[in-house]
Amino acid sequence: MTKKLLPAQAFRKLAALYADMQDAYVRHAGSLGLTCDNCPDNCCTSYFQHHTRIEWAYLLQGLSELPPERRAEYERRARAYVREAGDALARGERPHIMCPLNDDGRCGVYMHRLMICRLHGVPNRLRYPNGRSVDFPGCFRSQELCASADSFPVLDRTALYTRLMELEVQFVGPGKIRSLPRVDLTLAEMIVQGTPQS
Ligand code: SF4
Repeated sequence: MTKKLLPAQAFRKLAALYADMQDAYVRHAGSLGLTCDNCPDNCCTSYFQHHTRIEWAYLLQGLSELPPERRAEYERRARAYVREAGDALARGERPHIMCPLNDDGRCGVYMHRLMICRLHGVPNRLRYPNGRSVDFPGCFRSQELCASADSFPVLDRTALYTRLMELEVQFVGPGKIRSLPRVDLTLAEMIVQGTPQS
């Protein structure tokens, strides 16, 4: 039977899962010939929602380990991001705003960054239990490489995502997971809202 884990146990398992995601990404990027070197774009302006409390809590744990001034600056940027994203959405536009944790191209919480930050770049696929599957094309460079290739590898992230959802249940507690509202937040909203209810 699934048991609720202590946060430290859940975070250790999440770190191991993130390492596996990293390995899968490196393998796929390598076989595609994809590198981020000299890229004129920055994926960290992509507008994404995230859906698990365990990633949210782990992100906040990473932030809590930073010096107070740096954390305060990230929190200030996160509030600005939420305001600007809201304005863009009100205009009917998809927000295109730099992540509040990005410092001149470098991630301020690299070890604690979220699943989508880790896998977004390469073509990837998510298969659902009902048989539906959704393909994500990867970053613009990846799309250019794939367009000129006869065939290309697609990272099936179903097993990685399944492990993340299993960990989410263990983090929140199997008896509680269904009673909580669905998480559907940008990283900036997670920072502004603070510790997730669990
Ligand atoms: S958390 Fe880090 S990797 Fe993810 S979007 Fe922000 S700066 Fe980029």
